[in-house]
Amino acid sequence: MVDGHRIVVLGGGYAGLTAAARITEANTGVSVTLIDRKADFVERIRLHEIAAGSDPRDLGYRVFVEGRGGVFLRGMVSAIDLDQQTLQVGEAALPWDMLVYALGSYTDIDSVVGVREHAVSLDDIAACKALYNQLYKAPAGTKILIVGGGLTAFEAACEFAERLPGLDVTLAVGTRFAAADEPGGLSQHAVEHLENVFNRLNVKLIVGSRVASLHPGSAIFEDGSSELFDVCLWAAGFSVPKLARQSGLAVNDAGQIQTDDTLASVSHPNVLAVGDAAEVIVDLGGRCRMSCATGRPMGERAAMTILGRVKSSAIEAFSFGYSFRCVSLGREDGLIQFVDAQDRPVEEVWTGARGARWKEYICQRTLQGIGFDVDVGDPPDTPPAHP
Ligand SMILES: Cc1cc2nc3c(=O)[nH]c(=O)nc-3n(C[C@H](O)[C@H](O)[C@H](O)COP(=O)(O)OP(=O)(O)OC[C@H]3O[C@@H](n4cnc5c(N)ncnc54)[C@H](O)[C@@H]3O)c2cc1C
Repeated sequence: MVDGHRIVVLGGGYAGLTAAARITEANTGVSVTLIDRKADFVERIRLHEIAAGSDPRDLGYRVFVEGRGGVFLRGMVSAIDLDQQTLQVGEAALPWDMLVYALGSYTDIDSVVGVREHAVSLDDIAACKALYNQLYKAPAGTKILIVGGGLTAFEAACEFAERLPGLDVTLAVGTRFAAADEPGGLSQHAVEHLENVFNRLNVKLIVGSRVASLHPGSAIFEDGSSELFDVCLWAAGFSVPKLARQSGLAVNDAGQIQTDDTLASVSHPNVLAVGDAAEVIVDLGGRCRMSCATGRPMGERAAMTILGRVKSSAIEAFSFGYSFRCVSLGREDGLIQFVDAQDRPVEEVWTGARGARWKEYICQRTLQGIGFDVDVGDPPDTPPAHP
């Protein structure tokens, strides 16, 4: 092993696993350890599919990481000592020389009263399978209220409505519906398509007010109205783990690690941060939104920063510009919203089977990009030149 180059990657999501794979594949003699609390990589972008009855794939970390010459350690990271350069996993204190912090995010269930107690969320395979088992056996007319105005909520609503047709699916999107001038907003054509799909699948929309609190079987909105439910699925935003702040790393208000243009922490350069847990601001695309679309390229770049340091070679700045957003609308329909480099929607969208094929292709290509051996096939279509 090269002295001084014990690399530890915390979190095997889209960003962390990509970084771990690229560093080990470079065969530079550094030691690479990936730590995750789970045994398997979870395709988080397919969790709504699993909650509607799909089986998760078997994507074990050990085979993936150890097949590339790294080490996989299953455990919960509970503390990082930045002075001693150690971290706590269970009883063990593990030394590191460079750390890649990629602990991702989880559904924010604490910002609104009652969500933690009265809602479910799409956060892990076990919870998604449990939700499917509950919904699958539920009597016709069982009402699921999905709360969230973003793509995850739209995807979940369509998946349930299409695959569990006895359910009564209601989607509470907040004050506005996919407004083009808000983050994650959509073009007029895209909004019309979504409305048509919701009509076809009998998904009811509640627009105009945000949920203020949840109670057993009911949601109270900020405008005083209320809505009853049998099951509430909360999909209204992500939070990041508190570990970065607790450890003393410089973080923003949301708790994301602030990074420089090589993805190193601005306060502790031996810590790199990637994915949802990092605040990354780039010249072209601006502030990166939480997504696997940004997380994977960050993982690639963090690996290059580390390899550049190991080899004492030049390190390039991270650069990223957006191209499109992919939304599944059940298994047969999809929406591809093309965007400019700053993630603002342009008029061009792909819909229907064409959108569904492209979304599926992107999901597969994402896995392949990390390094999993999956059959992707040829691109089903040619995206337009970047606006
Ligand atoms: C239903 C759904 C659909 C989505 N669809 C899309 C989409 O179409 N396109 C898109 O770009 N994004 C989508 N997203 C968002 C995307 O999944 C996330 O932005 C992405 O997963 C972030 O990647 P990451 O590598 O930063 O973190 P994560 O994927 O969250 O991975 C973090 C890892 O860290 C591990 N971990 C966390 N804390 C600890 C700890 N203390 N100790 C040990 N291990 C720990 C976790 O087990 C996990 O494996 C979707 C999300 C959901 C929920």
